[in-house]
Amino acid sequence: MQAQPVKNIIIVGGGTAGWMAAAVLSTSIAPHSVSVTVVESPEIGTVGVGEATIPPILQLNAKLGLDEDELVRKTKATYKLGIEFLNWGALGDRYFHPFGGHGANLAGVQFHHHWLRTREGALSDYSMPTVAAYAGKFSRPSDDPRNVLSKMSYALHLDATLYAGVLRELSVQHGVNHISAHIDGVNLDSETGFVDTLQLSDGRVLRADLYIDCSGFRGLLIEDALKTGYIDWSHWLPMNRAFAVPSAITGPAQPYTRSTAGRAGWQWRIPLQHRIGNGHVYCSDFMSDDEAEVDLLAGLDGPASATPRPLRFTTGRRRLSWNKNVVALGLASGFIEPLESTSIHLVQRGIATLMSLFPAQGIDQAEMDLYNRLMATEYEAVRDFVILHYKQTQREDTPFWRQVRNMDIPESLANRMAVFTNMGRLVLDPGELFKETSWVAVMLGQGLWPRGYDPQADLLPEDEVRASLQRMRTVIRNGADALPTHEDVLARIRTAAQK
Ligand code: FAD
Repeated sequence: MQAQPVKNIIIVGGGTAGWMAAAVLSTSIAPHSVSVTVVESPEIGTVGVGEATIPPILQLNAKLGLDEDELVRKTKATYKLGIEFLNWGALGDRYFHPFGGHGANLAGVQFHHHWLRTREGALSDYSMPTVAAYAGKFSRPSDDPRNVLSKMSYALHLDATLYAGVLRELSVQHGVNHISAHIDGVNLDSETGFVDTLQLSDGRVLRADLYIDCSGFRGLLIEDALKTGYIDWSHWLPMNRAFAVPSAITGPAQPYTRSTAGRAGWQWRIPLQHRIGNGHVYCSDFMSDDEAEVDLLAGLDGPASATPRPLRFTTGRRRLSWNKNVVALGLASGFIEPLESTSIHLVQRGIATLMSLFPAQGIDQAEMDLYNRLMATEYEAVRDFVILHYKQTQREDTPFWRQVRNMDIPESLANRMAVFTNMGRLVLDPGELFKETSWVAVMLGQGLWPRGYDPQADLLPEDEVRASLQRMRTVIRNGADALPTHEDVLARIRTAAQK
């Protein structure tokens, strides 16, 4: 391995991943101990999508010292309380995957077992973010656990290009060197096989101790140069193309993402302050590009404000995220289609894991192995959760849905679905990204009804449980009624800046 300490880092790529990495490195490590450079090609644009996030991004923004109101203004962001799924379990179905839990546990038994026992009301009536989202309301959570607003949790919809700009500004302020140049060649050390130098098209040659490959799907260093290999998951997640297009705003911005399942894929709708981001993710084995584009445009709320942009991808992950002196982040390290808005989060996890194993004294095999194991686990957990949305469907109306409904799935997911089907139980690993609320929302939302529930729920008298559940629903409904509208919250943030 490379014994010399890491003093120079080059980040290849200036998309969301590259600037997230630069921002974290430059604010976490003293500039005199490590120099950080971002090289970004003026010839190759960024992917430019990636506008829906999940709640952990708020921790990243806070760690970077970004004021949230200012960020909302600068990135034209709106708030996101979860995702509404239309036509997934069956045509005409609708359910909500909220951030933040359902109801409250009673007598130490998880809430959903009491609900399965009584079937009092709809599950979504017990979710503060869902009730607020459908009422067009928003509030940040309360720190007081007795307040129903403590059950709120949220993320942001943001303009990806503007967000990368905010991170770039911060990084440059913290001493990151920014080079706009195309990398023509990557030279390897003939003895170690490590990346030695980068050849720029203007003739310059750059050298670093550690390279972070954020060059997008191609993986300029991790794949083109190091031939790391890719684990292809398209037999489980066959989506391989997308069209993205912005459209004009037609009404108040809803505080949630919408995902509508189609004939051979699904469409996203992400409201921002100045436009709506839309896209159609589909599988080219079952639908032509022309059909996909037509379906996308037909599903918009308002007129398209640009020509739809095509994108291609293969779902999977790089065999190693860290290989020799190259750590891949973002699209260069893998891609799971954006159904649960997890890509930016996986970048965040990659950076956090790298910081916790930062090779200050030189690159060490044990640390590298640990990094790769941890990142593989992160990717696989997200993969299983996304596959669940396709496998757990009653749809049989098109060849696509018949195929995904009947496909084999990873054993880890098959086992989790079987355990849930029996008694509604979910046994998760402590570090998993998606908690019980998420699994329960999608499993029940798509019609995976357990045969039973935890028998401990029967320890409480049924009428007492029903009364508690009714109270919970009332408290949530009243709590949502008292909240300001999402539009009012955004307007206040905008006008606060003008004072
Ligand atoms: P890119 O944006 O592709 O950036 C690559 C960078 O590398 C560019 O700056 C380019 O100039 C540079 N580069 C490439 N080659 C060279 C070279 N030879 N020399 C110099 N520089 C070079 N994520 C979410 O979290 N939420 C979502 O809702 C979401 N939706 C998505 C929808 C679709 C259809 C797709 C495809 C992705 C989506 N993502 C989403 C993923 C998200 O867009 C990416 O994870 C994120 O933008 C990070 O991209 P990146 O920085 O890795 O790559």
